[in-house]
Amino acid sequence: MEPFPADLIAQIATKLFRESSHTPTTGVPAGVPHGVPAVAPDNIRERLPTIPGMASHPNPLAIPEATHGSFPNVPHAVPVHSMNPSVAPSPMPGSMGSPTMQSPANPTELFGRAAPSASTPAVRPMTQDGLQRFVHGVRHQTPVQRNDCLGGEATRVRTRYDGIAAISSPTSQGLDVGSIRNDFPILNQRVHGQPLAWLDNAATTQKPQVVIDAISEFYATDNSNIHRAAHTLAARATEAYEQARTTVAKFLGARSEKDIVFARGTTEAINLVANTYGLRYLKKGDEILLSMVEHHANIVPWQMVAKRKGAEIKVIPVNDRGEIIMDEYLRLLNPKTRIVSLTHASNSLGTILPVAEMAHMAKRYGARVLVDGAQSVSHMPVNVRSMGCDFFVFSGHKIFGPTGIGALYIAEELHDVLPPWQGGGNMIKNVTFEKTTYSEAPAKFEAGTPNIADAVGLKAALDYVSRIGLPNIAAHEHSLLENATQQLSAIPGLRIIGTAREKVSVISFVLEGHSTEEIGKALDQAGIAVRSGHHCAQPSLRRFGVETTVRPSFSLYNHAGEIDRMVDVVRSLARK
Ligand code: PMP
Repeated sequence: MEPFPADLIAQIATKLFRESSHTPTTGVPAGVPHGVPAVAPDNIRERLPTIPGMASHPNPLAIPEATHGSFPNVPHAVPVHSMNPSVAPSPMPGSMGSPTMQSPANPTELFGRAAPSASTPAVRPMTQDGLQRFVHGVRHQTPVQRNDCLGGEATRVRTRYDGIAAISSPTSQGLDVGSIRNDFPILNQRVHGQPLAWLDNAATTQKPQVVIDAISEFYATDNSNIHRAAHTLAARATEAYEQARTTVAKFLGARSEKDIVFARGTTEAINLVANTYGLRYLKKGDEILLSMVEHHANIVPWQMVAKRKGAEIKVIPVNDRGEIIMDEYLRLLNPKTRIVSLTHASNSLGTILPVAEMAHMAKRYGARVLVDGAQSVSHMPVNVRSMGCDFFVFSGHKIFGPTGIGALYIAEELHDVLPPWQGGGNMIKNVTFEKTTYSEAPAKFEAGTPNIADAVGLKAALDYVSRIGLPNIAAHEHSLLENATQQLSAIPGLRIIGTAREKVSVISFVLEGHSTEEIGKALDQAGIAVRSGHHCAQPSLRRFGVETTVRPSFSLYNHAGEIDRMVDVVRSLARK
């Protein structure tokens, strides 16, 4: 993570001192940026929601230090600087084996471009600094080299699947895309006679065989309702479900599995927070801060709650690259700010938001922080504790898991003070017609029979990603993003919307004289699936004066040949 810029720290300090000029401030604890008052102004403390239990906390505004918790072996809990990029991804037990190695008769036909010659630049070695950037996002000014993701020694092979070229990269710097593609049966098909290129990963990701198997094996052998029976299958199903919760907790760097609530996905999880924290603690005149680049799922639930409670929504603007304007954010933060709800990565522009820095700033005002990880979890390691958020949400289907399952992280200190959302079975301790007492978290937030089989599928997906390693995935996607950005930018009349220095592997673009729908259809005819439309993030696109864009988005199983095919279609449309 980059250090706080000195001018930003000075601004925070000035603002806090200005607003608390009547309030004496005390010393600065370790870990707090120099110049920032350690104790929030008294007026902020007074405006904290009256949360039972908070009073007993010595300093409800204190920023918890990120600690290494009970999951020391989790790659995501490992600080980025200590990761060793030279360690090759471990073999994937779920892999369906290595592709048969054969020389393709005509590599140009297979890949839609010439095979690399001796003069093709060798892969750029990934430095520690490079890894850091990959993990935190992409900088456009980085020199672009094609074929980065394939490794200098990339070997082109024809695999078992229908004429679709794969690239076997035995080097530690790239993923073995050929082998990975073998794990995803859906990729082995043609659409309109062309090999399917799935470049719609921001909408949903494809599922590896291990996930498909985990779900079908659960139904074939272990299916039962959970938590409520003495029989063997109930015990097995309960164990499988709870193991999935533990896996999610480790994946997010949570303190304990008790911090993880299963939900249908990101949308439902945000609604849960809005309808518990929001309805219980928001008051008239309170403010909810959202960024300009939020998905509708992180706008509409807050609007609904704000309307009921008389609270106000304030929007953090972005600059012309689609990056948060931090001094505007600082200006908007004030003692009335109750919640800051931010996407970790924008699904329409790709921008990665500096959520850890933003959370730290929000905490100075006693605000709660929700991070929407729908577009980040599959691209970068996440640690909810070092991020300093109170809530973190994501959807399983965006990270190679099933639809209909997702997770909500709730920081421990909020477990008891949040009311339940839905009522029913599973979430109670005792029920009489007069009164019900509730279970502890997480059961308190999971009324009714949960989506057991898909939780099992989600566990398989997270295990799969962990075996490959998010830093390796991030590095591969970074190369694809740079490659596509460079090629698309060179097309006359094409405008990329969202050019943030820190991006996940999403590109939004428009092409003069062609509707986004027309481009999407032309790409489909070539077997290439991309999203065209408003991406459920209308305010973010309107900020740039457009209603819709074409949005290719890349994942671990994509390769440079697919990008070349996409660029060829767009280039030929541009010539018309
Ligand atoms: N937030 C973001 C950033 C998203 O990209 C999405 C899905 N496109 C959502 C929220 C909503 O996710 P879901 O539909 O899985 O609930």
